[in-house]
Amino acid sequence: MANPMMPEYRGARRRLVETLQESGISDLAVLHAFEQTPRHLFVPSGVRHRAYEDSALPIGSGQTISQPSVHARYLQLLQLKGHEKVLEVGTGSGYQTVLLAHLAARVFSIELVPELLERARDVIAACEVRNVSLMLGDGTLGWREHAPYDAILVSAAAPDIPRPLAEQLADGGRMIVPLGTLDEQMLVMVTRRGDAYERRDITPVRFVPLLGTHGWSG
Ligand code: SAH
Repeated sequence: MANPMMPEYRGARRRLVETLQESGISDLAVLHAFEQTPRHLFVPSGVRHRAYEDSALPIGSGQTISQPSVHARYLQLLQLKGHEKVLEVGTGSGYQTVLLAHLAARVFSIELVPELLERARDVIAACEVRNVSLMLGDGTLGWREHAPYDAILVSAAAPDIPRPLAEQLADGGRMIVPLGTLDEQMLVMVTRRGDAYERRDITPVRFVPLLGTHGWSG
């Protein structure tokens, strides 16, 4: 992949950014991250022509890459300034990982499915971002070695806030996590204040299940 940005997709990417602006995304850093991230590399070739539509697409192993406007809303909620250390649970395609890499200083991302992680690793390398570390494993346990995190983004639905993630959130840090049943969840933003955790409901959502020790076991 000589030029991962591939000029033929530049116009489509610009239109996606305009769509995001029209849908209420105003954080310029977030919009810029979308302009910098080649989403066509993260989707299978069969749906590549749809890569810059504002829609969710299948990425294999029964998983999907979320709608860009959904990523954009979450990223805007995190209010990243560029100096933060971020933990992402559920790398999936790696698309959001690269968006985060443009918005924060360091990104740590954990994925449970080996094939997804390997594919994401290749594509992230092609995007030439150098501040991402990936780990294969159970993200409900967090990544203690690099904690605390200024922001934690959980990309799959949990029955409750995984305790290790709450512990690994920095004081003043924010976590976005979909909480509820397997069928429906509320996207929740949790802000840590010392030993207290403020919870704010954002919007009803439907995510794939978070598996693992502090997720859905089976
Ligand atoms: N944000 C991703 C989409 C993620 S879909 C993107 O942009 O493509 C949710 C992902 O969470 C899936 O890849 C799934 O395999 C992963 N996942 C589920 N449970 C997990 C766990 N306990 N630890 C790490 N990843 C997990």
